[in-house]
Amino acid sequence: MTKTAFRMPRIASHRGGAREFGDSTPQGFAATARMALEEVEFDVHPTADGAIVVHHDPTLDATTDRSGVIAEMTLAAVREAVIDYSAGGRPLALPELCALYRDSTVDFRCEIKPDVSGRPYRDFAPRVVEALGREGMLARTVFSAFLIPTLDALGAATDRPRLWLVSPPVQRQLGFADVIAVARAHGLAEIGLNIDALDASAMDEAEAAGLAVGAWAAHDAARIDKALALGVKVFTTDRPSLAIARRAAWAAA
Ligand code: FE
Repeated sequence: MTKTAFRMPRIASHRGGAREFGDSTPQGFAATARMALEEVEFDVHPTADGAIVVHHDPTLDATTDRSGVIAEMTLAAVREAVIDYSAGGRPLALPELCALYRDSTVDFRCEIKPDVSGRPYRDFAPRVVEALGREGMLARTVFSAFLIPTLDALGAATDRPRLWLVSPPVQRQLGFADVIAVARAHGLAEIGLNIDALDASAMDEAEAAGLAVGAWAAHDAARIDKALALGVKVFTTDRPSLAIARRAAWAAA
């Protein structure tokens, strides 16, 4: 049996390939739409005037030339920011991202972020579902979140797949058996673990419980190769071009 017939991990270009194109930049998302990979990972936040912005942090401070809490700003104010290392790019509204991918073979992996205090935005998850539906992208979207209440809210709003991003501190605190139990209790069919916190026994344990396992933060060759060797379902990477090359080499070996 060939490796491709066995299991070919999917590649998700994290934040539009943040280490190749800047963090959540228009150029990164446009480039990812043309790549030989399966998913584009992005994060969303609401604005004060009801728009949905594609940006990692709840503030503009760390990765743009402006500062401010996105949820307290209008879309127009957010759009005044220029993203670092982006060749002049500004944060995208969700419909603009959808337009970039309408004719792409790359599908959406949409992460619903918490607010600046780490709590879920009120009534936000169903609004994201509705917006993706309006743009014709919902059927091509899987959702992710670190917060269980956000995943519950998504589950009430859509039948689309939801995956739980498990942080290493949560994984350590709960223990892996309880991670699996929580996922099952909330009807989640997939978990995403930090690649550094993932090994073959965790893969086996989760899969024995009927859960699919993905990895996140595979940002260098060693971590990408580890994700490929473990046979994860999907992994996110800030270096999508590197991941495509490593996967091609691994498949050919
Ligand atoms: Fe994310």
